[in-house]
Amino acid sequence: MTDTGPEPALPHVHRGKVRDLYDAGHGRLLMVASDRLSAFDVVMAEPIPDKGRVLTATSAFWFDHLPAPNHVVSTDVGDFPDGARDAGLAGRSMLVRRCAMVPVECVVRGYLAGSGWKEYQACGSVCGVRLPADLREADRLPAPIFTPTTKAPVGVHDEGMRFDDVVAMIGGDRAEEVRALSLEVYRTAAVHAERRGILLADTKFELGLLDDRLVLADEVLTPDSSRFWPTAQWQPGRPQPSFDKQFVRDWLDSPEAGWDRHRPGAQPPELPEWVVERTRALYVEAYERITGDRWPHAGGR
Ligand code: ATP
Ligand code: MG
Repeated sequence: MTDTGPEPALPHVHRGKVRDLYDAGHGRLLMVASDRLSAFDVVMAEPIPDKGRVLTATSAFWFDHLPAPNHVVSTDVGDFPDGARDAGLAGRSMLVRRCAMVPVECVVRGYLAGSGWKEYQACGSVCGVRLPADLREADRLPAPIFTPTTKAPVGVHDEGMRFDDVVAMIGGDRAEEVRALSLEVYRTAAVHAERRGILLADTKFELGLLDDRLVLADEVLTPDSSRFWPTAQWQPGRPQPSFDKQFVRDWLDSPEAGWDRHRPGAQPPELPEWVVERTRALYVEAYERITGDRWPHAGGR
């Protein structure tokens, strides 16, 4: 067993903070999403019930609806290889084509929040993109901007990159292509989300190369990789309520949590039951709003 389900009988190739990757043969990987929650690059000890399935279902919805090529082969357990056709893997797993991953995190921002807001306050720009003066926290940007970050090894925080840094890393043509695809997918997704009462404040894509063609890989537009704000409550000039990880981050920074996370080696606090439950509810709410479906297990645990 993994921490949240059965383990496929396939060679384990990578344990990420949230997903485990297994070699499914023929240039494919089985990506199994656990219920682990990471915040500030630290994995919490308490799983969030249903989180792995909610993330996988949310990504699967977007992969189906976005006009960009992607890495998905199947989410149907019947298509998984021998050793992975287990009902316990259903819902949380995705069979994907193994890509050469583009070595940057492709962040797109439509609104000013988080590290983007901090950087803007300090220097009036984000990752080298100059912005108008006098923007408030959570303001809508004149147009979405591409603000990539490094893909840092475990335990090291990702850092903002300028577009020139991306060019130096992967070449000018590829960098342009990566930026254009990221912005296009963001725009399409933001229009859909807004119809469903969600502002897509920002998000992070991971792109991969398949036969020299860029594809959307990893997870897409989930509450782990995005800031989702309820449109009805949007009010620039303050932090926003959100259907994503921000709730946990805020609790972890509260006096009740008492976590000095900047002190090396400081262990994260135990998440109280109400924080776990509220986080689960927020992830489910994001899924339900985005897809228009009821979460199959809502209220039924
Ligand atoms: P890390 O892997 O550095 O711990 P993470 O915590 O974000 O990062 P997860 O999201 O838990 O990792 O695991 C997913 C991993 O799978 C990421 O390293 C991601 O880059 C990689 N990945 C996603 N899709 C593909 C693909 N199609 N081919 C190869 N690797 C992929
Ligand atoms: Mg990840």
